[in-house]
Amino acid sequence: MSTIFVNLQAVNQRIAAAAQAAARPVSAVTLIAVSKTFPAAAVLEAVAAGQQVFGENYLQEALDKQLAVNARLGSAGAAALSWHFIGPIQSNKTRAIAEHFDWVHSVDRLKIAERLAQQRPAARGPLNVLIQVNISGEASKSGVAPGETLALALAISALPGLRLRGLMAVPEPSDDPAGQARPLAALRQLAESLRAKGLPCEHLSMGMSADLEVAVAEGATMVRIGSAIFGARHDAMAP
Ligand SMILES: *Cc1c(COP(=O)(O)O)cnc(C)c1O
Repeated sequence: MSTIFVNLQAVNQRIAAAAQAAARPVSAVTLIAVSKTFPAAAVLEAVAAGQQVFGENYLQEALDKQLAVNARLGSAGAAALSWHFIGPIQSNKTRAIAEHFDWVHSVDRLKIAERLAQQRPAARGPLNVLIQVNISGEASKSGVAPGETLALALAISALPGLRLRGLMAVPEPSDDPAGQARPLAALRQLAESLRAKGLPCEHLSMGMSADLEVAVAEGATMVRIGSAIFGARHDAMAP
């Protein structure tokens, strides 16, 4: 059995245990395997182990990998996969993202959302969008300020070609569970306040290898897991 197979089993068990502890159905949490910096062969190993949802941060790397993976799987196999873009978005990259991804987690400006909406091919149906929120208020981080999220969500929900689904955050790392929980709870509360205004924010993309359990306890519907599945990243590009 490959390491990726064993790691995926372990991560799925962590998700199941965390969901059970939180009295949430395990089906309420989608595992996104973050394959950035790992080759197409690693994605294919994960696919062989049953994983179908992948997250990527770097556009060119992701496009090359998708081509290689799709060529190996054939069109039926390729169609079963779903690709989530989770990295920072430059405006000259929006067209390829709109054409080659099913979800985007990292929309934090209206200009980017407008370009994605215009460039989404009609045949692919609306692009699923999460708004990235700078929930820890870090100066250098991407993400919209919590107080500006409602206005951005209202604007995005009016754009054809996009389907607003919820919020995403990459909180400041913390070693203690209370410090991990605080920003995750804040993101959940922000999504609840948007839902109360009628906005479709049923999804919470939060939780990575180190804080998966806390994120599931705080209501994550999507966890983005890289190193716990594929191993440590050695690439200088990795954040
Ligand atoms: C790399 C990355 C992840 C995965 O992080 P791990 O700690 O390797 O699980 C999740 N989300 C984003 C936005 C990332 O860039």
